[in-house]
Order: sequence, then structure tokens, then C-alpha cells
Amino acid sequence: MPRESKAARTVRTWKIISGLKQAYPDAHCELNYSNPLELLIATILSAQCTDKRVNLVTAQLFKKYRSAPDYAAADSAELERDILTTGFFRNKAKSIKGCCRALVEKHGGKVPRTMDELTELGGVGRKTANVVLGNAFNINTGVVVDTHVARLSQRLGLTREKAPEKIEQELMELVPQELWTMFSHWLIWHGRRRCYARNPDCPNCEIKSLCPRIGVAKLTSR
Ligand code: SF4
Repeated sequence: MPRESKAARTVRTWKIISGLKQAYPDAHCELNYSNPLELLIATILSAQCTDKRVNLVTAQLFKKYRSAPDYAAADSAELERDILTTGFFRNKAKSIKGCCRALVEKHGGKVPRTMDELTELGGVGRKTANVVLGNAFNINTGVVVDTHVARLSQRLGLTREKAPEKIEQELMELVPQELWTMFSHWLIWHGRRRCYARNPDCPNCEIKSLCPRIGVAKLTSR
């Protein structure tokens, strides 16, 4: 594809947004939660795990542990057992206990609403903080870059970067701030339903006329 100017890429991004919005009018976070703490815990558990599996685990977990003090005081081995099937359970239990301890000590058990405060909790990275701020508080401080967002941004020619933080910076320049949270939902939904990692369904893709399909020719002859 000939080199695209920043202005042209911005206009194309708006068209992509419009196409995805039309394709997925109900796009939303697919983790189940009923308050910011539950979303924080579910997001920590979602690392290297499907949302479906996390939702199965949290259906029981959220009945057992109802507040930050509950997690902070939990027996480590028991908490590990409770989250076992999400994988990496030792690290995740450690992160959950550590961040809930910090919530209790520094924030009265409540989840804070800023990137700095969230990422200072320990066990909470920028991606998790973006998920919590965007979905629990409706605050757009960044774009969540997971495996789907990274893959689709590259295929769509919105970035050539590989590192999530760098991809995020490029997307923040292209996408209007009030849409940062929704933009990642739209890409994630499209990645799960159409633009699969191994065999993307390009012929039926709702935004195919806007997509240079970077790197896709190698995967499919369509
Ligand atoms: S045209 Fe293909 S590669 Fe591009 S977004 Fe659609 S499914 Fe993905």
C-alpha cells in the first residue's frame, strides 16, 4: 500500500469507526461485573484467559469475596484454589491480594479513578487500569490494547508498532478521546467474530473496503 498521510489515515479511521459501530451497536465489555472492584478483579483474572472462563470463575468468587478487605484478608492458598482455572493462579492471587491491600490502606477500600492511583496499586498495569476507568467510570484515559486490538490495528494499517504501549499512543492520536473505550470494544468484537487470528473472514467483513489487510495475504489466499 502506498504511504498514507496522517490526515488520510485519520479519515479512514473515522470510517472504520462508523462501520464497526454499525456492525456492533451493542459492543461492550464481555466480563461480568456489578461494581468497579469486581471489574478490577475480573480484569486481573482475564490475563491469558478467555472472558468466558473468567465469568464462570467470578460467578462464584464474587459471592464469596464481596469487598477489598475480603480479598486482602483471604488465605492465599484458598484464593489460589478459587481462581485456579483462570491459569497463572499464583501470580493472579498475589496481584489481587496486593492490590486489595493497597485499596484498603490508601483508598478506604474503594477503587480510585485515576491512572496514576490505579497503576500504583501493584499488580495493576496500564491495560487493566484502562479497562476499569473506561468501563466502570466512563473515563477515557487510554485505549485498551489486548491481542485483538494489536492484531486488528496492524491489519487495518493503523499502526506498524508491535509493543502495546506504542500501539496505544498511535491509536490515541487517531481516535477521538470520547471513543477510546468503545474503539477497543469494537476491535475486540470484530476480532472475536470476524477478523480471527488464523483465518480472518475477509469476504464477509463489514469494513473490508477500508482495510489494506496488512499481513493477511500470508494467512489466506482469499
Ligand atoms: S478485511 Fe479481513 S483483515 Fe481486514 S478487518 Fe476485515 S477480516 Fe480483518
